[in-house]
Amino acid sequence: MSPSRNFTVAQATAWAQTLGLPRLEAQVLLLHALGCAPHDRAWLLTHGDDPLDAATHATFANHTQRRLNTEPVAYITGQKEFFGLTLHVDPRVLDPRADTETLVEWALSCLADVPTPQVVDLGTGSGAIALALKHTRHDAVVLAVDASADALTVASNNAKRLGLAVGFHHGSWLTPLALHTFDAIVSNPPYVASDDAHLTALTHEPLSALASGLDGLDDIRTIVRQSSQHLKPGGWLLLEHGFDQAHAVQTLLGNQGFVKVQSRHDLAGILRCSGGQWPTVK
Ligand code: GLN
Repeated sequence: MSPSRNFTVAQATAWAQTLGLPRLEAQVLLLHALGCAPHDRAWLLTHGDDPLDAATHATFANHTQRRLNTEPVAYITGQKEFFGLTLHVDPRVLDPRADTETLVEWALSCLADVPTPQVVDLGTGSGAIALALKHTRHDAVVLAVDASADALTVASNNAKRLGLAVGFHHGSWLTPLALHTFDAIVSNPPYVASDDAHLTALTHEPLSALASGLDGLDDIRTIVRQSSQHLKPGGWLLLEHGFDQAHAVQTLLGNQGFVKVQSRHDLAGILRCSGGQWPTVK
């Protein structure tokens, strides 16, 4: 189905909504087709009676169909707001979720009293966490690791465009950082169980950024083990995880020798991050 050739701005968003798109997504896609900024929803209201030209009409119809086919809005528009930063994203990296801002806020509070903190973001993807930390704590030394060279291209382009100095390293978790110790290690690793039906709804994103073994905890186990060798006394390991993994992740942290093990809620009230402190005295 295609919208009528004579659609106005207001009719176009209404059309996309009748097909099942939430109003906000319809607005963001239309603003993108019009070449307007994604936050400029007021423009749509003041120009509701403007007719769409043929090219905008065709682009919007095409993008609406892509979204109905479950492609993330961020891949269609090529960008995503995260912690106040505009990141460029594409299918080489996970679409950053607002839930992950919980992890950034927690890391910032752990580092509040640490001068010139040393931080690493493992599995940085688009660079979201590392760049948000560097943006907020200019004095921090922020490193970021990814096993995907493609992801590092996306992340380092974001860093350049935003003028944020982050050191990027290619490899598996802490392996490329053999001699480094940190005040905080943060990660939103893959954590979905490989047979989880939820994965079928996420076909547009890289599987390597989502799935992690039968119970979804393979990478978290590796990160917890490696981190014990890479934290300064009193340093923190903070991990995002699945909605039902807080208990398992807390157990892994406790068994590894972390103290003050605790969890944090995401925006939906789900225990989405767990972490612990490496003891000051062993
Ligand atoms: N939060 C994502 C989801 O389940 C998964 C992200 C991840 O595996 N790190 O939709």
